[in-house]
Amino acid sequence: MKRTVHFSLVVLLSAIFMVSCQMEDNRSVTALKVGLLIDGTGNPPRRDVVVLIEGDSIIEVVQEEEIPAGAVVVDASQQVVIPGLIDTHVHLGERAIAGPSQEYAESVYQHLKQNLAFGVTTIVSLGMDTDSIFALRDKSWEDAFGGARILTTGTGFTSVGGHPTQLGTDLPNQIDDPAQARERVQELAAQGVDGLKIWFARSSNLPPIKTEVARAIIEEGHLHNLRVFAHLNTAADTRILVEAKLDGITHIARDPYDEETLELMQRQGTIVAPTLVQREKDLIFTKEKELFEDPVVRAILGQEVDELKETLANSGPEVLDRRAQSYQQAKENVMQLKNAGVKLAVGTDSGTNLAPMGLVTHKEIEALVDAGLSPMEALVAGTRGSAEWAGVSDRVGTIEAGKLADLLILEESPLENIRNTRKIVKIMLGGRILEPLAITQ
Ligand SMILES: [Zn+2]
Repeated sequence: MKRTVHFSLVVLLSAIFMVSCQMEDNRSVTALKVGLLIDGTGNPPRRDVVVLIEGDSIIEVVQEEEIPAGAVVVDASQQVVIPGLIDTHVHLGERAIAGPSQEYAESVYQHLKQNLAFGVTTIVSLGMDTDSIFALRDKSWEDAFGGARILTTGTGFTSVGGHPTQLGTDLPNQIDDPAQARERVQELAAQGVDGLKIWFARSSNLPPIKTEVARAIIEEGHLHNLRVFAHLNTAADTRILVEAKLDGITHIARDPYDEETLELMQRQGTIVAPTLVQREKDLIFTKEKELFEDPVVRAILGQEVDELKETLANSGPEVLDRRAQSYQQAKENVMQLKNAGVKLAVGTDSGTNLAPMGLVTHKEIEALVDAGLSPMEALVAGTRGSAEWAGVSDRVGTIEAGKLADLLILEESPLENIRNTRKIVKIMLGGRILEPLAITQ
C-alpha cells in the first residue's frame, strides 16, 4: 500500500513538472491544421480543426484559436486527414528464403516500408513469422522506425499436414492433440505474441484442424489474455468457432451465415475482416487497369507492377466469370454482417500472390464500399475496426487524445471517392512527418 502511495506521488509530481514545462515552452508541440478531419471513430467529419501532437502522441483536437504559443504549425488546412490504415492480415518477407538470414530480414523490412509508403501504419503479421520478428516488433513501436508498426501471432496453428503446408510453408504448430496445443500456446505467450492464429480451413483436400484442438487454443489463449483469430471459409465452421468465443475472423464464408451465428457474433463482439481482395483479387485489380500506370504506385512497387500486370493478363474470361459469382456471394455476406451489426475490419492476406503490400489494403477498403458499405463505414473498418480486431484500439486506429500520432494527409476526401485514400501527400508516424516516396528509397 505504502509503495503504491509513493509511486502515485512520483507520478503526480512528474505530471506537474511536465505541465509546467509545457506552459513555458511549446516548441515540442506540433499543431496540425486540418481542413477536414475524419477521425476514425465514425463520428461526422470536422472542418477546420487542429490536432495537437507532442512527442509521438496526440494531445487533443482543438480549434485554431487554441493553438499554444510556440507550437510548430503544420498546415494541412486545404487537405483531409484520416488515421493511418491498419491491415490485420499480412505475411511479411520473402517466403522462399524464410529463415535466419540477413537477406530474409531485409525482405521483411522492405515489406514494412512498402506498407508505410502506402499509408498502412500498423500491420498484423498472421502466422508465418520467424523468431526475429519479436525484436523488430518491439522496435516498430518506438520512435524513428522506418516502416509500419508490427503485431505478430508468431507461428499459426494447423493440423498435421494441414493448410497452408501445401504451399511449402514449414509450420512448427501442426497439432492434432488439444493438450499439446495448450502447451504451444503457453510457449507463444512466453515469447510475447500479440495474438494467436488458427487455420480452420476446409478449402483443400488437406486434413482440417480438429475442433477440440481449436477450442483448446482459444481457451488457453484467453487465459493468457491473447486474442485468437481464425482463417474460416464456411458458415458452419464460423459457427463452431464463434460458439467457442473466437475474437477475430479473417476471410469471409463462401455460403451465407445463419441468423444465430450473426446474432452471436454481434453479441460477443466477434470482428470480421472479410478479405474480399484475396478471393477476388484478379477481378478487383482488373476493375482499375489504369492503377498500374499511376506513377506513385509504380515508384513504390517497382517491377512488382509488371509482374502483376502479366499475371492478370493470364486471367481468362472464364476465370473472371467464376470469380464474379463468388465475389457476389462474398459481397452479400458482407452486407449480412453489416446489417446484423457485426463489426468489420480490413485484412488482405498481402504478401501472397497478386496482393502487393499496402496497395491491396486500399483495394480492400474500396471492395467493402463496392459491397455496400458507405465510404465512412469502410474507413472505420480500416482504422478503428482493425485496431479493435487486433486488440490495440487503446494505441492506434483513431485520431483522439492519447493515441499515437499515426495519420495520413490526403489531397482529397475519401468520403467523396473512396479511391482518394491513395492520394497521400504526407504520412505521420508517431508524430514524424514522412514523404511517401522517400520511405521506400
Ligand atoms: Zn494469410
